Amino acid sequence: MDNDCLFCRIVAGEIPATVVHETDTTLAFRDIDPKAPVHVLVIPKGHHPDVASLARADPSAAADVLAAAAEVAEAEGLVKNGYRLLFNTGEYAGQVVFHVHGHVLGGEPLGPMLA
Ligand code: C5P
Repeated sequence: MDNDCLFCRIVAGEIPATVVHETDTTLAFRDIDPKAPVHVLVIPKGHHPDVASLARADPSAAADVLAAAAEVAEAEGLVKNGYRLLFNTGEYAGQVVFHVHGHVLGGEPLGPMLA
């Protein structure tokens, strides 16, 4: 755990979040500033700054995050119409929290990716 990391502190229960899914290795919670009717963040419990670092350091945890995102999408009723799974990676992508998180977005047509 990184004590300066917001999402590590959510995993530790020190900062509240609306948790919708949890496994031994992952946690999923609603984004506090949703950009779609469904906006859930899926994270590994271990601290890794971005998805590339996670994939290199712990491929099994990366697979767990993807599986958890699929389960969240299913539980949120997004599978029939589709959804977006997005990992902002680095400054130019707009990443602001440097504990890897996949955004699960859906519940309405999302439009083109870069619109
Ligand atoms: O990918 P990026 O780093 O930009 O996304 C961070 C996300 O974390 C934002 O969508 C923000 O609303 C969310 N957030 C949150 N709970 C917090 C702080 C940030 O859901 N306590």
